[in-house]
Amino acid sequence: MEIIIGKLSGMCEGVRSAVQKAKEIVKNNEKVYCLGELVHNRQVVDALEKSGMITVNDIKDIPNYSKVIFRAHGEPKEIYERAFRKGLDVYDLTCSKVQTIHEKVEKEKKKSFIIIVGNENHPEVIGTEGFAGENYYVIDDADEILDAYMEYEKTKMGYVYVVAQTTFSSKKFDMLADELRKVFKKTIVMVDKTICRATEKRQEEAGEISKEVNSMVIIGGKNSANTQKLVEISKENCENVYFIQTKKDLRKMDFEGVEKVGIMAGASTPPEVVEEVIEFLNKIGK
Ligand code: SF4
Repeated sequence: MEIIIGKLSGMCEGVRSAVQKAKEIVKNNEKVYCLGELVHNRQVVDALEKSGMITVNDIKDIPNYSKVIFRAHGEPKEIYERAFRKGLDVYDLTCSKVQTIHEKVEKEKKKSFIIIVGNENHPEVIGTEGFAGENYYVIDDADEILDAYMEYEKTKMGYVYVVAQTTFSSKKFDMLADELRKVFKKTIVMVDKTICRATEKRQEEAGEISKEVNSMVIIGGKNSANTQKLVEISKENCENVYFIQTKKDLRKMDFEGVEKVGIMAGASTPPEVVEEVIEFLNKIGK
């Protein structure tokens, strides 16, 4: 069995750097809290928790004057303010690309109606919303555009400024941007495609590999948005797409008669997990 491994598989710069820094912080401090899951990968989080990191989902559960990690996805502005009021010592590991979006949105909020293209429940989008002021709307499908337009009409803002969740599907973003221009035809629509280049390239590669293979294995956390996108894209080209978290999940899957298998991993998947999957497939493919 031939195995094609995506060159852009696995941890992106932002996540790699956050994980490395978190390891250092946890090593050098007795008690460190992390607000939300550091990355969408259970093994990475489990290892850090074993070393003493405490994950909490609400800032109110962090005792005053504690040390806290803000993860790569970023936090809403209000959380920085609450952290300050609680006297927390913040290690801000927000990815610089996400920070740039926060800065842009904060600058735009006085002049424009902001549209965030992304999943409203994703922590990165929640963080960006927290910098967008009062006049914004989140969409992740074309059928929400009319509602966004009605909200915009109420605001009387001069123009529309569109940003994206960094891990949003590039193709879908382009489609939504075209639709927005059509619906907001009497308004200036400034489209800022803030999708991370690492994400875009990984999605392109998943598309290319999935066209060539009989089966595609996508490795990543079930709650990882960028991994889910890789699954979606692969399914457009390949009939057998397996979405797994670790090599253990592969045991239930059948590779009988498969000649070519492709491997891609999401942005939070550590290299050792990818290695284990390759090793496993190599063994059964001999
Ligand atoms: S996908 Fe891009 S924006 Fe998101 S954490 Fe990774 S490097 Fe940063």
